[in-house]
Amino acid sequence: MSYLVLARKWRPQSFSDVVGQQSVVRTLQNALQRNRVAHAMLFSGVRGVGKTTLARIMAKAMNCEHDGAEVPCNNCRSCQEITAGTAIDLHEIDGASNRGIQEIRELKENIRFFPTSGRYKIIIIDEVHMLTTEAFNALLKTLEEPPAHVFFMFATTELHKIPITILSRCQRYELKRVAFAELVAFFGKIAKQEGVSISERSLEMIAREAEGSVRDGLSLLDQIFSFGGAEVGDDDVVQVLGLVDHQVFAKLARALLAGDLAGCLDIFDKGYGAGMDLKRFANDLLGYFRSLLLCKAAKQPEQLLDVSDHELAEFKEIAAAASQETLYQYFNLLLKGVEEMQYSSRPRMVLEMAFIRATQAGRVVPVADLLTRLDQLLAGADFSLPAAPAAVMAPPVTAEPAPSFAPQGGGARPHPSAPQVAPQKKTEVILEQPVAPRSTTAGHSVGSPGQKVGAAGKQVRQDWDEFIGYVKSRKAWMAHVLRLSGVGRDEGSELVMKFDDPSDCSVMQEHDNLKLINEFAQDFFQRDFKVVFRVRGVKDDGEQGDDGDNPREERRALANDPLVQMTNEIFSGQVGNVRTGPRSR
Ligand SMILES: [Zn+2]
Repeated sequence: MSYLVLARKWRPQSFSDVVGQQSVVRTLQNALQRNRVAHAMLFSGVRGVGKTTLARIMAKAMNCEHDGAEVPCNNCRSCQEITAGTAIDLHEIDGASNRGIQEIRELKENIRFFPTSGRYKIIIIDEVHMLTTEAFNALLKTLEEPPAHVFFMFATTELHKIPITILSRCQRYELKRVAFAELVAFFGKIAKQEGVSISERSLEMIAREAEGSVRDGLSLLDQIFSFGGAEVGDDDVVQVLGLVDHQVFAKLARALLAGDLAGCLDIFDKGYGAGMDLKRFANDLLGYFRSLLLCKAAKQPEQLLDVSDHELAEFKEIAAAASQETLYQYFNLLLKGVEEMQYSSRPRMVLEMAFIRATQAGRVVPVADLLTRLDQLLAGADFSLPAAPAAVMAPPVTAEPAPSFAPQGGGARPHPSAPQVAPQKKTEVILEQPVAPRSTTAGHSVGSPGQKVGAAGKQVRQDWDEFIGYVKSRKAWMAHVLRLSGVGRDEGSELVMKFDDPSDCSVMQEHDNLKLINEFAQDFFQRDFKVVFRVRGVKDDGEQGDDGDNPREERRALANDPLVQMTNEIFSGQVGNVRTGPRSR
């Protein structure tokens, strides 16, 4: 007795048998009932979703001798011939192997004649995108004026390869991947009818593996049935599909998120000992973290994930233990691992290193929290402590008189934030102390070695550090940002500060910040200053547009900022989402 593979045995013979393409089926049936069937139809979709199957059912319905609402009847001579594959008036052509102009010419010759026994001549061209350009052109003329007795049905997995001239002459039907739940139900039905006992969980594994393709799922089912016989166990399915049990990933994810490296390696080692395929394993683990992340991020994760209800509940429970940032970071680390594995001769080590990185990275602290902590640190730092990095950042002016135009040291201007990264050694010099605003306008040039003849009140250049200290005692983060601008310039009625980075500039230009810094400057210098921020390199004389900042540039600049990169180093972090705009805190 010859064994008929499930995909053929269970090939739908009528519209109601088709799995998961309800809307296309309804449209086709309506067209039949209203006698409005197009002369050229195009079925597109991934493999194994029923494109040629639907075309055949449609052909059968059109040539069915039975004249009722329920076509095809599958009983009449025409229907039976089509089912058996012996119908003379149905031409099935494989576009992949008959792709030239000669084949199309022959076809055109053939369709000039009336159908032999059926009502219509029906041409099905599978994989139609494989036709050559010349073949398409030859076909086009026929499609423009098709003989009344001829109908074309095309099927393709690659819609984008079909010339637009052809597309525009076809009625198009896009077949979807079959939904997970529908596949599970369908495979369950087949198992039952084939007399095989199989668990729901196994059916889910198969459906997930099929990725929306009925045919793929059926051929897996074939393998599993012949492997397990009448009683298919979950282990059989795991083995045949080369899967790692879902539970292994659940355990591993829990261990990773708990930072339990030993546990991770143990679980991994057991799986490895059982002979799993490493790359497959890594990819599935990555998929598992994607699911966790989507459970956290998406409003309706069940629409995005091919999972059953109990699996969804498990994902949600595991995901609840971690922040979205943490899950994202783990996903990224694993993704990196998976990519590295492709090229490595030691994939196992690569994966183990990914586990180590992931567990060491620990929990990701949201940037907002870090900023809050930084603010607290900056606010609380004793500014007069010589060893404090904050003091280091201020330019040393006492040891030698700095050239007036380059207070941060001669020659080339360093990157504004460079001093923070490489603290200078001359830290014993105490430059300033937080100073309350003084209304007195005289006698404050003592601390500065520069000769200030006839200076009245505070001077922008000489007293800049003191000004920064003044700002710092009131708004720590602002002082930090201002330091990036170097020394401000006194331009009469304006106090100009320039930044290399537009993002620093835009932070300061926010309404509240601008108002504050103006108050600080006016109080400190006792002048009716207007504070102006500019981006270095932008023309000084031109009016600087407030909306000139390119957000993408800005984000990139932020991500590449040395301070951010240093933070990345320290926390083994990476830049995820760069948000700009008004502070939310
Ligand atoms: Zn029939």
